[in-house]
Amino acid sequence: MSLLKKILILLQNYLNYNFKMNSKLYKHLFFDLDKTLWDLKTNSFETLKDIYSKHLQPILNGNNFDVFQKIYEYNNNVLWDGYRKGLVKKDALRTERFALTLKEFGIKNEELVESMAVDYIRLSPLKKNLFPYTQEILEYLHLKYKIHIITNGFKEVQYLKLNHTGIIKYFTEVILSEETGFMKPDKNIFLYSLNKAGANANESLMIGDDFEVDIKGAESVGMDQVLFNPEKTINNETATYKITSLIELKDIL
Ligand SMILES: [Mg+2]
Repeated sequence: MSLLKKILILLQNYLNYNFKMNSKLYKHLFFDLDKTLWDLKTNSFETLKDIYSKHLQPILNGNNFDVFQKIYEYNNNVLWDGYRKGLVKKDALRTERFALTLKEFGIKNEELVESMAVDYIRLSPLKKNLFPYTQEILEYLHLKYKIHIITNGFKEVQYLKLNHTGIIKYFTEVILSEETGFMKPDKNIFLYSLNKAGANANESLMIGDDFEVDIKGAESVGMDQVLFNPEKTINNETATYKITSLIELKDIL
């Protein structure tokens, strides 16, 4: 190893040490689930493929999966946004994302919409794709901190996801928005979570992928935050820490 390389490594270790020394003494870590640990994009893609093959492939000419998936994602995002703001009811979100998508294909069939909606809720939580290093980082963190989940996802599926991927064992508290009556970024769900975990805001860290939902919400109650940006999108959003891979949590914690 060249002298220069040795010096660089020493310097890097020194900086890492100082960085850790300067960071707060956290006791509680609160993770978002979807798109932070559970790879929703990949899992949803696989589920939609299953649903398309079962319900639409037999009645459509040619393979339109790519179009179907893009339209679904668009509708799903718009409806989720409305759901978070209290403008769309859960049951409408569950079915309308398929009804609106089928409409683009000239299909109006309530029974088909209902079967697709039921299949989505049934099949998606069985998918097991997690972001790289999820198991490794949870294994590392759970020995040093109390770790919890705060999620806006439906209660029928979130526990299944945690169980099927085997990561439920790492979490002390799992806080579901539906059980609290508040959705992130509402500060009340964060206050509820801190209270349930027996944690103070200044010894807690929120880790999530959504700036508006996870980061701003946590900030509003005085918690530090880690913005997880795996797709490395360019943004000028501010958070206490920013990471593009979960393994970088080892540099902070
Ligand atoms: Mg998320």
